[in-house]
Amino acid sequence: MSKQSPTLGTVASGNGETTRFELSGRDQSGPGNFATALERNRVFAAAGGHEGAVVFPKLRLFVITCMDPRVDPAHFLGLQPSDALVVRNGGGRATPEVINDVAFIAQLVENVIPEGPLFEVAVIHHTQCGSGAFADDTFRRRYARRIGADEAELRDYAVLDPAATVARDLELLRSSPAISPRVTFSGHVYDVVTGLVKTILPASDQEGQPQPPRGDEIP
Ligand SMILES: [Zn+2]
Repeated sequence: MSKQSPTLGTVASGNGETTRFELSGRDQSGPGNFATALERNRVFAAAGGHEGAVVFPKLRLFVITCMDPRVDPAHFLGLQPSDALVVRNGGGRATPEVINDVAFIAQLVENVIPEGPLFEVAVIHHTQCGSGAFADDTFRRRYARRIGADEAELRDYAVLDPAATVARDLELLRSSPAISPRVTFSGHVYDVVTGLVKTILPASDQEGQPQPPRGDEIP
């Protein structure tokens, strides 16, 4: 099979830089879309991949990251079934909906763990994020019209400097009165070129007090 050259897309980021996307050119064999995923599901179930899974996250971890297919925590963090709650959206941003999701899970877990830390929320933004498109004036205006959103708010969703946006989102989460004070927070950047995660802000509580990692897992 001949190897296709990748098709690259670029979006201006508004700061003189462009974000590059490899849109296609990867090897694609067999049926596409959900048919391929369904075949893999049959293999997963036959191998018992679902067995022993529990609803409470074993690592006491709640990951917020981007929906980019390069940025799946099951791969780059090696998360197994039941290891963590994961919410993904464009950029991995702490939107009002995501903050409500954290508040919701914290309220549920408070019933299970009467005292002490509940779980750690890890916000992970990444390099070469497609959300940089929100910094492109033409793209943003057109998209804002399409979804009926406030254009100025959309501009803030661009991840151009992932370390900076992680810090901003952590501050949003920490300062949210909806989230239990027993939740801890950490911030990280995933580099899609090296495959490595760098911690920007280690785990701390709402007051910014450091929280050492827990050694125990919930069975
Ligand atoms: Zn992204």
